[in-house]
Amino acid sequence: MKNKVVIVTGASSGIGLATAREFAARGSKVVLAARREDLLKELENDFMSRGYEALAVKTDVTVIEDCENLIDKTIEKFGKIDILVNNAGISMRALFIDVDIQVLRRLMEVNFWGTVYCTKFALPYLIKAKGTLVGVSSVAGFHGLPGRSGYSASKFAMHGFMETLRIENLKNGLHVMVLSAGFTKSEIRKKALTEDGSEQGYTPRIEEKMMMPEQVAKSMIRAIKKKKRVKILTLEGQLIALLQRIVPGIVDRGAYNELAKEPDSPFK
Ligand code: NDP
Repeated sequence: MKNKVVIVTGASSGIGLATAREFAARGSKVVLAARREDLLKELENDFMSRGYEALAVKTDVTVIEDCENLIDKTIEKFGKIDILVNNAGISMRALFIDVDIQVLRRLMEVNFWGTVYCTKFALPYLIKAKGTLVGVSSVAGFHGLPGRSGYSASKFAMHGFMETLRIENLKNGLHVMVLSAGFTKSEIRKKALTEDGSEQGYTPRIEEKMMMPEQVAKSMIRAIKKKKRVKILTLEGQLIALLQRIVPGIVDRGAYNELAKEPDSPFK
């Protein structure tokens, strides 16, 4: 990974931040993209003070011009792009019957359209570098999760998009990978949108029992080196991806029962 130029969206927190750190520690030049500019600047300074090469670019992935600017700034500073990690993402927690439709629109804008916009501008450079395009996903991209209709829809859409790009670029050396993380300690559940679009503000699960974002980042880098097509990080995720093709009804009931156990679950 030495001297690779790596863009990570959603680099101000959780999996994205850990990914940027792991790449930087291996000698990559990292571009940190997210909306919180002050935090990104602090992170850029922190990276530089450790001797890493880093560039912070304030980016709202739902804004096309921001995504174009992210790629332009990267090329201006580093001259190429080897890896784009489409990681920026948000979640939700509400039944579809109750939810404000704008919540689903927002989920699609960040998780799906954000991936599309950043990829659109980065793709010519990624192809030139015979690089890697990554989409950070979830088991929700393999099987619907109750209370997360917009989240599942956005990750399913991302899977279809990434798969198509893989096939379109089969002959030019571009590596396209979907990485499916399991429950990982981060801010995602606190920031998840509820039925009226407000943030949930707390996590209904025990974060300390989850995978750490650093583990996800290390596995991602290993999977990139091995040019994996799809990397599902947990055994539970691997089982769900397999069983949903063979016994989908059982997976439906398992997903229902598991998520109904959460405190304040919108269904029982
Ligand atoms: P966090 O909430 O900790 O991080 C989300 C990141 O996305 C933040 O850096 C946030 O930065 C950024 N972000 C949110 N909205 C935007 C936007 N409009 N434009 C640019 N950046 C944005 O969550 P995670 O680290 O958990 O999530 C990262 C990815 O991992 C997501 O795609 C998620 O779906 C996936 N994932 C997470 C799992 C988990 O259990 N944590 C499980 C499976 C998948 P800022 O607010 O500064 O913009």
